[in-house]
Amino acid sequence: MKVSIVGCSSYDNELVYNAVKKAINDIDFEIKPNIKVLIKPNVLSQNTPDQHVTTHPSVVEAIIRIFKEHKCKVMIGESSGFYQEGGTNKALEISGIKAVSDKYNIPLINLETKPIKDINDENAVVYKNPKISSLIFDADLVVNAPKLKTHTLVKYTGAVKNLYGTIPGGIKQKLHVLAEKEEKFTQILVDIYQNIKPQLNIMDAIIGLEGNGPGSSGIPKKTGFIIASKNAPALDIVASEIIGYDPLNIFTNKYCIERKLVNPAEIEVIGDKRIINYKKPINVSKIPPWLIKWVSGLAIVTPYSIKKKCIKCGICRDVCPVGAIKLAPYPIIDKKKCISCYCCHENCPHSAMNLKGSPIFEALRTIKQTLFKTR
Ligand code: SF4
Ligand code: SF4
Repeated sequence: MKVSIVGCSSYDNELVYNAVKKAINDIDFEIKPNIKVLIKPNVLSQNTPDQHVTTHPSVVEAIIRIFKEHKCKVMIGESSGFYQEGGTNKALEISGIKAVSDKYNIPLINLETKPIKDINDENAVVYKNPKISSLIFDADLVVNAPKLKTHTLVKYTGAVKNLYGTIPGGIKQKLHVLAEKEEKFTQILVDIYQNIKPQLNIMDAIIGLEGNGPGSSGIPKKTGFIIASKNAPALDIVASEIIGYDPLNIFTNKYCIERKLVNPAEIEVIGDKRIINYKKPINVSKIPPWLIKWVSGLAIVTPYSIKKKCIKCGICRDVCPVGAIKLAPYPIIDKKKCISCYCCHENCPHSAMNLKGSPIFEALRTIKQTLFKTR
């Protein structure tokens, strides 16, 4: 299970192309000619490339060029948010991905508009009937192209999490209700992954996102890598370690290991695995579990809107899976209904939905930082 880390200092098209090509060679990925290739970037929401929330268009362009050289039929597919006006189509436009698809005259497919494949997976742990866009299964090869980011709910988002975007919009929202907590939600991510298992994964880790990612509240962080692997969880284990996590504290990694979808002992890293510590998101999981139990529901992190930034667009209200937000005229959150999924925070396009810990949460965080010297 090879994982290649190739240095890449900027988004200059030629630099990125050479880095992606080297990474693909390093992992001995053989490109078959004339096949149907689907690129799945991470276009979470309507963000410009310089916000570094979405996979940079130059990375997508490099992948297109390489597969077109082998005369493959390339297409791009994504399902981002349905709750923003213009939805996935507008997100693809703002992210710069549409311009790249136009340049190479390749189909840009909004996965929301395609039929859904109903899957029965007895081996799934939570999501036994995944509903995944059928386009994924029509392709001969899925190239998963995630962005390296921190994540307020699941701490880290990379190759396995990126496949959540193969589930059409409204269903994604409902899954947050089915699985409120980080552990259960990440089991769903692994349930989805094991039904797709993209054969090639190429991560944009040139500039990642630290702090309260994965949306516009995160902070761009120069990292300087293209990371590739045939195995998505192997890539995630390496990438999460690079940004300063213990990979086993990332539940998608842990569950993929438990389900034998990856064997850490078999990972062979090619390249320079430099640690570039990312600021971690505010997250209850930073507190030791025994302390959480002890203080029961008091150590919580809740969203709140920042009036100075808020334009009262209502996206947070529309995306909330449990209807906990109303606009009057600014968002008001019903804390009793809130399940702490952080969808509102993740999807606010104006960084106007922030998160804050309760006084007990903040006290515990300070204690933990002092005792364990964590960030
Ligand atoms: S908090 Fe963000 S998403 Fe919600 S209404 Fe304000 S600007 Fe819109
Ligand atoms: S208010 Fe925000 S964090 Fe709470 S349930 Fe709604 S979307 Fe999730």
